[in-house]
Amino acid sequence: AEQTYDVVVIGAGGAGFSAAIEAKSAGANVVLLEKMPAVGGNTLISGGEMNAPDNWVERALGITDDTADLFYNDTMKGGDNLGDPKMVRILADNALTSAEWLRDEIKVEFLPDHLFQFGGHSRKRALIPVGHTGVELITKLKAKTDADRITIKTNMKAETLLKDESGKVTGVTATSGTGDKITFHANKGVIIATGGFGSNVEMRKKYNPKMDEKYMSTDTPGSTGDGIVMAETIGAKLTNMENIQTYPICNPETGVISLVADSRFDGAILINQEGKRFVEELERRDVISKAILAQTGGYTYQLWNQGIADIGKTIEVHQDEYDQLVKQGLLFKADTIEEAANFFKIDVNTLKETINKVNDYAKTGKDLDFKHRGGLKSLEKGPYYIEKAVPSVHHTMGGLVIDEKTRVLNEKGEVIPGLFAAGEVTGVIHGANRLGGNAIADIFTFGRIAGKQVVAE
Ligand code: ADP
Repeated sequence: AEQTYDVVVIGAGGAGFSAAIEAKSAGANVVLLEKMPAVGGNTLISGGEMNAPDNWVERALGITDDTADLFYNDTMKGGDNLGDPKMVRILADNALTSAEWLRDEIKVEFLPDHLFQFGGHSRKRALIPVGHTGVELITKLKAKTDADRITIKTNMKAETLLKDESGKVTGVTATSGTGDKITFHANKGVIIATGGFGSNVEMRKKYNPKMDEKYMSTDTPGSTGDGIVMAETIGAKLTNMENIQTYPICNPETGVISLVADSRFDGAILINQEGKRFVEELERRDVISKAILAQTGGYTYQLWNQGIADIGKTIEVHQDEYDQLVKQGLLFKADTIEEAANFFKIDVNTLKETINKVNDYAKTGKDLDFKHRGGLKSLEKGPYYIEKAVPSVHHTMGGLVIDEKTRVLNEKGEVIPGLFAAGEVTGVIHGANRLGGNAIADIFTFGRIAGKQVVAE
């Protein structure tokens, strides 16, 4: 069968949704293709937090010295300067506008009085959607596409990009859940928003042999790099492909990211089996992951108390995950340090020493061991929570090379006409390592640009 639209968007995560909505509002007839039975991608199952420098919640909390320049510097440095400076600049200058768009146009609700400071950020600048997950984002985006009457086709896997004689991309072939082959023609262009390849072990190993089967993944099964392969087949250039990020704090049995453990951003500490801290808890994800793998058994324990739990309420907002972890014996609530130590057979005296030091550092505001950038919190009072965790593949920094207008470039650095890309499928922003809260800022900033640009060209 054949169908014709102005714009074909491949992948219904945050990048694809925002591209589709912008293209539609610019007057295009749009179809959004999603290979899974449900929309949302990794955006849906993420924490949903979004960095935006100098945002309204920062101001409400009295943080008045954040700027796009600081955010730019953090992001470049966090990726070992392997991001494309001009693209990171666009992210830094537009992240706040993207957040305001989500708030005002898409009606996403962000917490009015709480922010996260993710690892590698010099300011507390990550907005938190209500519920602390991407569900709020995707639910509202879906409502907006419904209101705008944008056609979404789930169970529709895009497979091959089509080109005309001039080399312009004119559409894509796809297979439906029932095996029907459909060609989607695009009068204006195709936007690839298929996300990363964290769930594709073969592809991970192809680009970075270390990222093999020993790692589980936090990603949805749909994150198999389809868009990268499709575009590469027609000559697209790839970059940063070897840079694959593990998230340090995941369920040791399933690989699923632990959002209960977001208490780390409110002051939870990390200790090893011996009961000692071994890394700054707000370090970059790659640094923490590496440090964890170097400890006995290749795992860590995250420890916090009720005082810290009450700040971000991560247990209440992620109650299902909490109950699951308790049931699996991977998280334990203890009245005392002794109980916490005994549950996981950690040496009680060493753990007590560690905690005494943390309490001292909390008082002086100076972490003499690891220079905790958020300032440690006192762990004097119980009850305590202790959770076992391992690193798991989370984000693939590499992908397609796009220009300022999100146009996909070929090996020679020339524009492939009619082809655009945004989100995790691109490889130009995060360099060696993506900072927390930067994926959501990235996908909405460039998803929106792609949606406008495909219509403008
Ligand atoms: P981003 O954060 O960049 O928006 P997500 O992971 O949130 O990325 O979303 C990407 C979406 O693309 C997922 O829902 C995934 O199932 C979908 N997808 C991946 N490959 C294909 C494909 N070949 N055809 C259609 N949809 C795809």
